[in-house]
Amino acid sequence: MSTLRFRVVEEAFKKKAAKVDVPAERPSEYFGSLVFNRAKMAKYLPAKAYNAIVDVIDNGKPLTPGIADAVAAGMKQWAAELGVTHYTHWFHPLTEGTAEKHDAFIDYDGKGGVMEEFSGKLLVQQEPDASSFPNGGIRNTFEARGYSAWDPSSPAFIEGDTLCIPTIFIAYTGESLDYKVPLLKALDAVNKAAVDVCHYFNPDVKKVYAYLGWEQEYFLVDEGLYAARPDLLLTGRTLMGHESSKNQQLEDHYFGAIPTRVTAFMQDLEIQALKLGIPLKTRHNEVAPNQFELAPIYEECNLANDHNLLIMSLMRKVARNHGFRVLLHEKPFKGVNGSGKHNNWSLGTDTGILLMAPGKTPEENLRFITFVSNTLKAVYKHNALIKASISSATNAHRLGANEAPPAIISSFLGSQVSAVLEKLENSDSKELIIEGKHGLKLDIPLIPELLIDNTDRNRTSPFAFTGNRFEFRAVGSSANCAAAMLALNAAVAEQLILFKQEVDANIAKGQEKVEAILDVIRKDLKESKAIRFDGNGYSEEWKEEAKKRGLDCETSVPLIFDAYLKESSVKMFHTTGVMTEKELKARNEVKWETYTKKIQIEARVLGDLAMNHIIPVATTYQTLLVENVSKVKKLFPEAKANALSVKNLEIIEDIANRTILIKEKVDAMIEARKVANKIECEREKAIAYHEIVPMLDEIRYHIDKLELTIDDQLWTLPKYRELLFIR
Ligand code: ADP
Ligand code: MG
Repeated sequence: MSTLRFRVVEEAFKKKAAKVDVPAERPSEYFGSLVFNRAKMAKYLPAKAYNAIVDVIDNGKPLTPGIADAVAAGMKQWAAELGVTHYTHWFHPLTEGTAEKHDAFIDYDGKGGVMEEFSGKLLVQQEPDASSFPNGGIRNTFEARGYSAWDPSSPAFIEGDTLCIPTIFIAYTGESLDYKVPLLKALDAVNKAAVDVCHYFNPDVKKVYAYLGWEQEYFLVDEGLYAARPDLLLTGRTLMGHESSKNQQLEDHYFGAIPTRVTAFMQDLEIQALKLGIPLKTRHNEVAPNQFELAPIYEECNLANDHNLLIMSLMRKVARNHGFRVLLHEKPFKGVNGSGKHNNWSLGTDTGILLMAPGKTPEENLRFITFVSNTLKAVYKHNALIKASISSATNAHRLGANEAPPAIISSFLGSQVSAVLEKLENSDSKELIIEGKHGLKLDIPLIPELLIDNTDRNRTSPFAFTGNRFEFRAVGSSANCAAAMLALNAAVAEQLILFKQEVDANIAKGQEKVEAILDVIRKDLKESKAIRFDGNGYSEEWKEEAKKRGLDCETSVPLIFDAYLKESSVKMFHTTGVMTEKELKARNEVKWETYTKKIQIEARVLGDLAMNHIIPVATTYQTLLVENVSKVKKLFPEAKANALSVKNLEIIEDIANRTILIKEKVDAMIEARKVANKIECEREKAIAYHEIVPMLDEIRYHIDKLELTIDDQLWTLPKYRELLFIR
């Protein structure tokens, strides 16, 4: 081992678990202590202001300057009591992270001093100088202003000395520049459309919520080792590194005992998350070594998404207090599983009904099947778009590989639900409506609730029904879930609107309500049948079969993004009011540009490492071998010397060949980048960069081979066996 490597590895292995500040109270007592939630509002706002703001949050009533001032005053008082000195609008630009700019509460008091000040105006709207956020050309420099505006549906919270106010982010001209605006619009659209459909079954429903329960996978790496890997530092993944002899083949990590250093990190993170109102519930080891998962109890989708963004930034901070770095990249290490972020999604009413859960009566099951069928139809119709919503340069390493969902969207329903749908599809509505003693009776087969819980899980399905929800498994671990959630909710909203129109038309023609519903469901199930697939999603046969079924099988990420601009997508986003064509176009510019930049950075880092780490080390070792061979020649007679040097000569040759190949391939990659960089059109440029991706793998292949040959004492970069096993 090289001295540098030895030092960092030794440090890493010596580290003990950090001490965690465990509060004296129970979690139920400190949960939400750093959140300006309803209890805090009730305490810090005058009764009139409290009622008014609740009306704004629950019923979408307009926010008046008077209410805003009252809320701001209450918020400031609460925050000041907790030692807070600054505030910030907290928003989600198109960067996959969050943005914040802190301002102190101070202002001149008119008497030569300063005082703490926070008005409703500052709470409600700000004008960050935001010309450096990705905007896809929406903001010309002369109208570079962007506005951040308060989202009262997600409560303000405290991080350190700063009050964070969740906000939307829009351009001066009104277009959205973030993920929150279209997400909120999609949630509103699905609420309205689902309430209308619910009224066929439950006329008292006033609101339908979309729920999201995300499961965040991540890797931890010791920070000393991390610092010695420029590729991890700059790209979030290892661009080289031979597989460790032992990795996940013994299947001994999944659900295994959590190392104490990691347990301390998790405990610390959970305490801080609970204080921020994030209901973390589950933690466990994942499949790959050093891979873990955490999941909260599901929440309303907008809040759940804010909480996911918050937890990602919190994880990064807390990890550093424990001498770790968190890797949220979808594929930090070759040869072991990558990380995803399952999005458990469902719809539920204000009256407490989970619309994706089977019920106890045939009527409840008709409602359940209505929502399942509409979801399947939406996912079928927009399968290319839904895939685009989770695609990125980083997630591309996961999709299609033999561990994660394939790059084809399909839905697994389990045998119970599949059987019911089959029956519905192939029978006459009249057969299903039986005239009984008590009038009309529905003959929809009952779905035993207990059995549903144990649906034979199909881990290969990207969109699986899991008892009372759909689990969208293709989302990447580093992604902002909003991209997937806004596409899914908007698509389902569009479909529910169409469904209602068709059912109403049937009723207008004189059909009974139930018969009218069953007729449309039967037609929809037939039309969307191609999306249902219960088999092995990793198999080659499925790729063939999916192509025949007309599902989108594109694997090039820049081309997958085209789905956003398909006529059906533009129409869907327009009718649901979620995004305009101008916004979609601008966002695609950002997507292509981001794709290009990610590959560009990786290519540069790999090129640099190859040239100034790998080739020099390889050459040094080669020189040692050459010296050895010439010394052997001096010591022994020629024939014997030749015989003794055979193996070293082979290694010398192998190193020479590989260094030549590495150099040639790095040069070719640089040339390809030069050509690509000249392309003006972002889409074309991204396509050109997509061609560069395999070059990285080719270079890596030779580097990884060299890693196996070269004297371990010379190799400075920490190896997989050191990076992947926390002691
Ligand atoms: P698994 O790994 O078996 O999928 P986890 O316990 O890790 O399960 O995560 C399941 C996630 O699904 C949790 O976040 C949970 O709150 C969420 N969830 C459960 N029911 C629903 C539902 N009806 N709608 C949305 N999310 C749900
Ligand atoms: Mg899980």
